[in-house]
Amino acid sequence: MINLFLFCRAGYEKECAAEIQHRAAELDIGGFVKTNNNDAYVIFQCFQDGDAELLAKKISLDSLIFARQMFAAAQLLKSLPEADRVSPIVDALSEVSKAGELRVETPDTNEAKELSNFCRKFTVPLRQALKRSGSLLEKENPKRPIIHVCFVASGTAYVGYSLSHNSSPHYRGIPRLKMAADAPSRSTLKLDEAFIHFIPKDEQEQRLRSGLNAVDLGACPGGWTYQLVRRGMFVAAVDNGPMNEDLMNTGQVKHYMADGFRFEPPRKNIYWLVCDMVEKPSRVAELIEAWAINGWFKEAIFNLKLPMKSRYKEVSQILATMQEILTENGIEDFHLACKHLYHDRDEVTVHLWLRPETGF
Ligand code: SAM
Repeated sequence: MINLFLFCRAGYEKECAAEIQHRAAELDIGGFVKTNNNDAYVIFQCFQDGDAELLAKKISLDSLIFARQMFAAAQLLKSLPEADRVSPIVDALSEVSKAGELRVETPDTNEAKELSNFCRKFTVPLRQALKRSGSLLEKENPKRPIIHVCFVASGTAYVGYSLSHNSSPHYRGIPRLKMAADAPSRSTLKLDEAFIHFIPKDEQEQRLRSGLNAVDLGACPGGWTYQLVRRGMFVAAVDNGPMNEDLMNTGQVKHYMADGFRFEPPRKNIYWLVCDMVEKPSRVAELIEAWAINGWFKEAIFNLKLPMKSRYKEVSQILATMQEILTENGIEDFHLACKHLYHDRDEVTVHLWLRPETGF
């Protein structure tokens, strides 16, 4: 296949494009990006047929900041005939064999969402036809490739597949999270999504367990603290603002009216550090680095507010500097990941896990 299709947030096509261009160049895979503002997707068109599969295999989706999902795609199918849209799609997918799932999707834009009813209905006959052609297994299989058919306009679709171990488990790469009625702020969904994204399901019981100590810098009104409390943790909430009363009544939260940049945890048994302060990203990164060097936490999740320009460049520089500083200070064993999550707007979320080899 010739194209790599990447889903991103509308308005972030340039960042997603810059990132995939950079990563493909590192692998010596030639091609160019095709993107339009606010389309919520980017195409990297390879010079050589077959290279899209290589990219989809070699670049880990988790290592991409701005792509929510990606798949190797054939040439764009245009003007699909209303009377039979199924056959051309089945033909275009003839090289895919025994896939385990079919997703008929649209980019995350209001215009494309109007196609979602059609997509739902269309899935049924398409699934049957792909089973008959052998492209899709009779029974869903989570270990086999996923077929993606993404309608970017009526009668116009990119079709292809992703590898199940290098693909988002979510339709369009978007997790569906429910806002709890008693959560103090919508921001709560950002940390909820971050935990789901960065912590594998089978490790959540250990790494997000009840009884752990946490610090929340820039905590008010308490949306992030809420996520920690609901998992049974004890939280030092640092902010000069007012905390949600119900959260305080749980007895699991101690509110420190203090500057998050000067706060030092009174006890040094902190497992989770989370930070959602609206500040210059480099300043937040320096703070997290200082905490890491002091050994004040085991895992951290923090937001970096994005600048107006050169957003990909700036974030990559901050992450590269963080890696350097940690290494220079004797922390060699760490895991650092960054994602523009669905609930993030003009910010990205970073996860830093120190010495993962030493266990939870
Ligand atoms: N995560 C919170 C939630 O889910 O409810 C929302 C945090 S809000 C985006 C940013 C917070 O950071 C504000 O409440 C603000 O008072 C706090 N903040 C900004 N600078 C701070 C600083 N230097 N020290 C402590 N808190 C700070």
